[in-house]
Amino acid sequence: MTLVHNWHLGRTMEYPYFESRPKQQFAAVFNTNRCIACQTCTMAHKSTWTYSKGQEYMWWNNVETKPYGGYPQFWDHNILQLLWDNGNNPMEWYTSAEDKDDKKAPYGLYNGDTIFELAQIKGLKQHAVGYIPDDKEWRFPNIYEDTAASEKTNIETEQVSEYSELPEHKRWYFYLQRLCNHCTYPACLAACPRKAIYKRKEDGIVLIDQKRCRGYRKCVEQCPYKKPMYRGETRITEKCIACYPRVEGKDPVTKGRRMEARCMAACVGKIRLNGLLTGDRNKPDPKNPMDWLIRIHKVALPLYPQFGTEPNIYYIPPRWAPRGYLRQMFGPGVDEAIEKFSAPSRELLAIMQLFRTTQTMISKFEIEKGKKVYETQVNGKKFEVYDDTAIGYAEDGTEVVRIKVEEPTWESSKERFFSY
Ligand code: SF4
Ligand code: SF4
Repeated sequence: MTLVHNWHLGRTMEYPYFESRPKQQFAAVFNTNRCIACQTCTMAHKSTWTYSKGQEYMWWNNVETKPYGGYPQFWDHNILQLLWDNGNNPMEWYTSAEDKDDKKAPYGLYNGDTIFELAQIKGLKQHAVGYIPDDKEWRFPNIYEDTAASEKTNIETEQVSEYSELPEHKRWYFYLQRLCNHCTYPACLAACPRKAIYKRKEDGIVLIDQKRCRGYRKCVEQCPYKKPMYRGETRITEKCIACYPRVEGKDPVTKGRRMEARCMAACVGKIRLNGLLTGDRNKPDPKNPMDWLIRIHKVALPLYPQFGTEPNIYYIPPRWAPRGYLRQMFGPGVDEAIEKFSAPSRELLAIMQLFRTTQTMISKFEIEKGKKVYETQVNGKKFEVYDDTAIGYAEDGTEVVRIKVEEPTWESSKERFFSY
């Protein structure tokens, strides 16, 4: 084991390999506030990569209803329980102003043990703690769909004795969209004794070498997000490949330019934006939408950072769910992220328009200023809408999208007014 810096945790941690960050990192921002759980993303990946024999129960992309849903069933409860029961330190964050000012600890300092550290504490002969879900746990990918959590329901009358209003709904659920996080410190990679899993230098995509894999299932056991899946037909393991041929620009539709992954491009609710984070974490590019949302303004947060893998799919948390639940899921940055999203700044509102406007990966954006069209108060804070124009550019500098904040209104001509 060696010491590496994990900026999600605000500290160094144990990992079997030296710190070596890719030139750019495949990443995405998911706005949970907009997801409608239509599962179009799920079918987009299914119909492309996992439609064959032996992959029937494989859903690289899945959308689960939180808090009860999960694929495989109760995956996160199980890992949290492991950390909770066996760690030396309580799963707590220190978020003093001093810690937060430190560029190395933007969310604060995590005091608990990661899955890697816990394996050491327990003296295991493996690099991370975990478990292999059994067949029936993979069987119901949409279990507990739309099942709400509720503090108080009168069991005798089955009457709901509470109502839902902001800031925290008393009766609530939300949708969590998941795929492989292409982690900076992948537990799957650490786990594989044959070194069949590797992380690409050019874009940080984590892949299982299908020729080297022998189906030991150590990755299935030790990935805390349960994203590597064993294929009985071939007797080896597979996982999300981030649609790397598209990311490399191999799909003719984007004329050689980098293209977003299938699940991202298919998103109906316009919740997803897929791109590449710049390689140097300490020098984020304010014109790169991924850097802007994740590193500079921290509107989008990692899923279960306490596991220690530094995952690279980031979430704008749902503004109506109980904050305690969200903090244990996305870390202590939740309150600030929700506040920023609920009354978005002029720049954030413009960037949000870029979500799902093009399949080409946007590597830079620009905002052209327009006039003020609306003004109100949100939670006592002034909120103004300007009809700005957001412009997205591909890596080669070509303009690939131009969209206004305010939707244009079109009037039918008089002749066509009653055209039915
Ligand atoms: S989410 Fe799991 S499978 Fe994906 S890179 Fe991280 S540890 Fe590996
Ligand atoms: S396609 Fe988009 S809106 Fe539909 S379930 Fe997937 S993430 Fe949610």
